[in-house]
Amino acid sequence: MEELLLIKYGEISLKGKNRHEFEGALLEHIRWVLREHPGARLEKAYGRLYIHSVPGDVKLLSRLAKVPGIVAVAPALRVENDVSEIRLAAVEAAKRALTTAGASGKATFKAESRRSLKSFPLKSPELNHQVGSAVLTAGLGLTVDVHNPTFIITVEVRETGTFVYWTEVKGMGGLPIGSSGRGIILLSGGIDSPVAAYLAMKRGVALEALHFWSFPITGEKSKDKVVRIWRVLRDFDPKMRLHIAHFTKIQTAIMESCPEKYRVTVMRRMMMRVARRLAEKLRALAIFTGENLGQVASQTLESMAVIEDTAGLPVLRPLLTYDKRETVELAERIGTYELSCLPYEDCCTVFVPKHPVTKPRLELVREAEKDLPVDELVEECVGGIETLTH
Ligand code: ATP
Ligand code: MG
Repeated sequence: MEELLLIKYGEISLKGKNRHEFEGALLEHIRWVLREHPGARLEKAYGRLYIHSVPGDVKLLSRLAKVPGIVAVAPALRVENDVSEIRLAAVEAAKRALTTAGASGKATFKAESRRSLKSFPLKSPELNHQVGSAVLTAGLGLTVDVHNPTFIITVEVRETGTFVYWTEVKGMGGLPIGSSGRGIILLSGGIDSPVAAYLAMKRGVALEALHFWSFPITGEKSKDKVVRIWRVLRDFDPKMRLHIAHFTKIQTAIMESCPEKYRVTVMRRMMMRVARRLAEKLRALAIFTGENLGQVASQTLESMAVIEDTAGLPVLRPLLTYDKRETVELAERIGTYELSCLPYEDCCTVFVPKHPVTKPRLELVREAEKDLPVDELVEECVGGIETLTH
């Protein structure tokens, strides 16, 4: 009897070339995760992935649950395609279920068998019967309940052996990183942009995070905060990098040459210009933000249109229609919420005028920018970007 982790991924919708790319991206991500789990080994067979893990490596399971594209991970037992071995594995599975679920002697179970190996002599109902009788006669005090069991013992008969499992950990679902191309996420220290990053990663976007830092207007602590948030996000994509752009010179130039009420709009247009240049360098196809319709002055439809005028790429806003409550719930689940609530200032907070325009007009904003040496400022900012990889 062999112990392994069975990886379930993108089950129904995958076909042909798509499937190949999907699996390639997923395998790459899993291999990357396994680098930190010496001794664990990946096996790919007949459209399934298995990991032979080191006993007691409890961390691996939770790491895998954060890999986009994985639907579920089940700790499983593998035996030969042989009825008496399957019966033994089923009893072992029931024992594990009782200890892990902490279920009492009143616990109930149900057997669910599937055969993808059609030459196996027993049909699924017969196999269910075998599993059921093995567990019932094992002296564990269990009874059968087909409607509302405490746990289900699943038996899958396949070419590579029979897999028996009693629980599974839900994965993040979605698509493997990279299968949707590359994007830039504008990452602030706020609540929203980390959640937007998570949602983009979940749909298979390989993200490069870009943070605008205005030292000394905002201090080292505000940078550290973003670095910490980025480290949490790297659980979902260990290759995600953080690019820190020094933004003070641009902000100062805006303060000096733009009318106050247009400052925020112009500042965001500058952020987009820098993001666009970085995207060109890194071959990214879109810019993601944590913007949300109507939340603040710069997030009206009018503002968004004027801001993305300088982006040159699609600007995608995964949180556009979210209520704050929904975003906060997700931030808590991802693990970025507490960090986002740390009280360090963001470059925008210190910069916001008393009366920003909520419905800017493009020609007036362009006029407000006319004294700004835009290209020079953008080039210098992009040239000075610091990139963190770990
Ligand atoms: P967040 O909670 O993500 O900061 P927010 O509701 O505070 O969002 P704004 O501060 O108006 O909204 O920013 C809107 C979006 O612009 C952010 O979600 C983020 O994508 C981007 N952004 C703002 N400030 C920065 C920054 N300093 N560096 C990088 N991106 C930023
Ligand atoms: Mg913010």
